[in-house]
Amino acid sequence: MAQQQAGTPIPATLIPGDGIGPEIVEAVVRILDAMGSPFSWDVQQGGLAGIAACGDPLPAATLESIRRTRLALKGPLTTPVGGGFRSVNVRLREEFGLYANVRPVRTMVPGGRYEDIDLVLIRENLEGLYVAFEHYIPVGDDPQAVAISSGVNTKAGARRIVEFAFEYALRNGRKKVTVVHKANVLKALTGIFLETARAVARGYEGRVAMDERIVDACAMQLVLNPWQFDVIVTTNLFGDILSDQMAGLVGGLGMAPGANIGPGAAIFEAVHGSAPDIAGKGVANPLALLLATALMLDHVGRGDLATALRTTLDAVLREDNIRTRDLGGTAGTSDFADAVVRRLAG
Ligand code: NAD
Repeated sequence: MAQQQAGTPIPATLIPGDGIGPEIVEAVVRILDAMGSPFSWDVQQGGLAGIAACGDPLPAATLESIRRTRLALKGPLTTPVGGGFRSVNVRLREEFGLYANVRPVRTMVPGGRYEDIDLVLIRENLEGLYVAFEHYIPVGDDPQAVAISSGVNTKAGARRIVEFAFEYALRNGRKKVTVVHKANVLKALTGIFLETARAVARGYEGRVAMDERIVDACAMQLVLNPWQFDVIVTTNLFGDILSDQMAGLVGGLGMAPGANIGPGAAIFEAVHGSAPDIAGKGVANPLALLLATALMLDHVGRGDLATALRTTLDAVLREDNIRTRDLGGTAGTSDFADAVVRRLAG
C-alpha cells in the first residue's frame, strides 16, 4: 500500500452500500472534500445495490476495483436472508486475506456511563469457529437432531494476529496487550492461541507488557473496570462479542469504527449495519464511518489529517453540542456534516 504524498489523491474504492449507507457516505465524502480530497474515489456497488445492478451482492467489478486500489471505504451492506448468499463481509475477508480486524473505542460524548475510555480490540478475522465447518447428524426421524461445528485455529494464524497486535501497540504508543482466550475449557482450540501468544509476547518484553484473561472474566472486568485494559487481542468469535460490548461502553454501535487489514487490501467500515428502520430519513449518525475514515487516513500515512478529523469531531460533539438523535441530540446527518465542515473551514 503506497503512502500518500500530501496533495496527491490516493485511489480508493468507495462502496455506498445499503439502507443508511448512501446518506452517511455522502456526509463523509463532503467532509473529506473540505479536507482537500485525500482520496480519489472509484464508486462501486455492493449488497442489495449489487444484486439490483448485476445479481450479486459482491459484483466482480467491485472486487476488481479493490484488487486494483487495495483500499476501500465500505458503507453497511444488507445481507440478504436465504437465497444461498454468503455474507459479503466474509467473502471480502477471505478474498483479500483480511486477517486483522481492528476496532478502537473511545469516549467522545461526556456524561455517558464511562468517561475516558480508550481501548482497542484486535480480532482474528479468518479462523476459529467462523470457518463454519458445520453439519447436522440425524437421529431417528429428526434429520437435524444434533449440530456439529468445528473451529480451526492455526499457530501461523495466531502468530500473525498477535504480532499484529504487539506491532500496533508499539506504533501507537500503547503499553499493554491482553490476550483473551478460553484455554481452560477449549484446551486445543484456544490453547494453541494462548501458547503462541505467550511465545510472541516474549519478543516484546521490556517494550510492551502482556497479560491474559479468560473471556468470561474479561467480559465482566470490561464492565467493572475497563480502564485496566489497553489493547486486547483475541480469536474470531470472542472478538466479535467483546468488540460490541466495548462499543456499548462508549455509547453504542454508532460510535464504533472497524478496519479489516490483510496483505491484499485494507477495508474500512462502521461496525453497525444498514439500519433499515431509519434509512432515507436523514437522521443516521455518520460518526462511526467518519472514525473509520480516520483509521483509513492513518493507514495511508496521513496521520495529520486523521488527527485533524478526530479533533474536529470532538469539538463538534463537545463544544458545539451538535449530535444526532441516537446520541440524544436533534441534528440530522447533513446538519452534523455541515457542522464538521464549518469547524474545518474555521
Ligand atoms: P443495525 O446496526 O443496522 O441497526 C441496529 C440498530 O441501531 C437500529 O435500531 C438502527 O437504527 C441503529 N443504528 C445503526 N446504525 C446507526 C447509525 N449510524 N445512526 C443511528 N442509528 C443507527 O443492525 P441490524 O438491524 O441488525 O442489521 C440491518 C442489516 O445490516 C442486516 O441486513 C445486517 O445483515 C446488516 N449488517 C451489515 C453490517 C456490515 O455491512 N458491516 C454489519 C452489521 C449488520
